Amino acid sequence: MLTESSPVFRRLVRYVKPYSFWVAVTVVASLGLAAIEIILGKFFERMVNGGAASASMILFLLAGMIVIGMPCRYLIKYATARFSVKVLRDLRNELVRRFGDMPLSQAERKLTGDLISRLTGDTALLQNFFIQHFANLFYLPVVFIGALTLLLLTHWKLVLFSLVLFPFGMLVAGLLTHTLRSTSEQIQDTMGQLNALAQDSIGGLAVMKAFNAQTIFYQKYSELTQHAVKLGLRLEKRYAALGPIAILFLAVPVIFVVVYGGHLIRIGELNAGSLILFLYLLPLALQPISLAPALIAQLQEASGASRRLFHALDWPVERQTGSKEQAGTWDVPVRVDRVSFSYDGKTNVLDDISFQLSRGETLAIVGSSGGGKTTIFKLLCGFYEPKPGEGTIRMFGRPLSEWDLSALRSNISVVSQDSYLFPATVADNIGFGRLGATREEIMAAAEAANAHDFIEQLPQGYDTMLGERGGGLSGGQRQRIAIARAMLRQSPLILLDEPTSALDTVSESLVHSALKRLADGRSVMVIAHRLSTISRADRILVLDQGRIAESGTHDELLAQNGVYKKLYLYQLTKEDESAQGA
Ligand code: ADP
Ligand code: MG
Repeated sequence: MLTESSPVFRRLVRYVKPYSFWVAVTVVASLGLAAIEIILGKFFERMVNGGAASASMILFLLAGMIVIGMPCRYLIKYATARFSVKVLRDLRNELVRRFGDMPLSQAERKLTGDLISRLTGDTALLQNFFIQHFANLFYLPVVFIGALTLLLLTHWKLVLFSLVLFPFGMLVAGLLTHTLRSTSEQIQDTMGQLNALAQDSIGGLAVMKAFNAQTIFYQKYSELTQHAVKLGLRLEKRYAALGPIAILFLAVPVIFVVVYGGHLIRIGELNAGSLILFLYLLPLALQPISLAPALIAQLQEASGASRRLFHALDWPVERQTGSKEQAGTWDVPVRVDRVSFSYDGKTNVLDDISFQLSRGETLAIVGSSGGGKTTIFKLLCGFYEPKPGEGTIRMFGRPLSEWDLSALRSNISVVSQDSYLFPATVADNIGFGRLGATREEIMAAAEAANAHDFIEQLPQGYDTMLGERGGGLSGGQRQRIAIARAMLRQSPLILLDEPTSALDTVSESLVHSALKRLADGRSVMVIAHRLSTISRADRILVLDQGRIAESGTHDELLAQNGVYKKLYLYQLTKEDESAQGA
């Protein structure tokens, strides 16, 4: 256990270090309190043994000790809270920053619920441990060793006699500690699953409702909560059992002290003051032992939580080196040369793809769904990189691997089928396109994206808060805000991933004219289904099962009488049908 938890401990120390002052205050106050309690025992002994002359003096000192103990207790609580909330704040901040630096390849594999439960559950657990138990790590051992030493010096035989049943109690406590730990780990797991389920189902609420699948979801959720109840009760049962066992530790020795100590007094081997010392200090010395099982269990819980947190902090981050140069005026913004790509290392999603995009050109990519179109965009943005020997991608004249990824992305604007809007104001959502943009620039971008008019109609105009994922706006409106964002970015390369496929005809035409303005004078790649979009492109790539089946202009491809022709005829009949339906 030591080998695996000591690096965790060392890392934790690094986070605590900036607040060493308050840690020191906690430690000193805990040690102070422990010392005071032991010294109090000594005063009690003197009170009982001493003559009347010194009684008032000792009473005075005794009161003084109690008074000093009060700020110690306060400081222990305050100082632990003071550093632990800050340590946890730092950990939370770093965790969220780390989420942002995660490569997309990682993020696409992880459940958001799991991330959220690390961010909330594990940090709360750790914070709780600090506040509840950190001081005890110093207080309890000192009380234990100090009080026991004093007692042994006073009358070692009485100490040994009172502890005859101790080994038995230790055994039971040891067993309990073990089961406490495994149960609490299972509870953490279940809580993680509950979080994941709730989180992911809120994300998919519309679909869930549409299929009336709430009951299925609810059933799954309540099964899990039921399981959590079972585990929770099991844990509490174990903790509750610690109560009676504490009697074994505390009450039995005291009874032994009374019986044997009484005998010792009668034969003149012990004085009354020492008996009082024993009755006061022995339970105090033994209290750490009775608390130990719970403390160890919670220590393990906290080290488990820290381990999970550090594990999340160790997730790979994206490459952060490379050229930060602006794209400038490259004649060929995109050159893809014999690229193959696979997500899982087994099946190729892209197979020996080559193409290039010239400056100012509009290139359409068509093909059936699952053919690898979006994957091409992910590669161009550097979200994924082809393995060495699997082809090269040059962006703005520079191999992908030489680019600083955030610099590369600042040269690209992406508008996708379902554009993500942040839970922020409309103006902020557009402003993300280029940090530092003024309100005028934002409004101009919105104007060019055919978004200004509907934004003005919103309750607070540009300052209207959007819900998560832009809730409250129609698909076409969300899309036009996304276009305004891209417009503001003024990047040389525009990637459009089926930007109109989810829209009705009216919003489509509004989005369309906005897109035309966005594309004006820029290099554009557009993944599209609609003939109107496709046929306007300068050149068309037909992607079929990860390969480029055909490429050329609309007329050339029709003349080839191949895959494109079939797609074209199919699309033609479909758009015809939908036009008749409308
Ligand atoms: P398209 O955009 O042409 O519909 P995609 O590029 O999205 O196709 O997907 C191509 C293939 O790659 C599909 O079979 C899809 O299931 C798979 N795929 C897409 N994203 C991932 C991913 N993150 N991990 C594993 N497979 C993926
Ligand atoms: Mg796609």
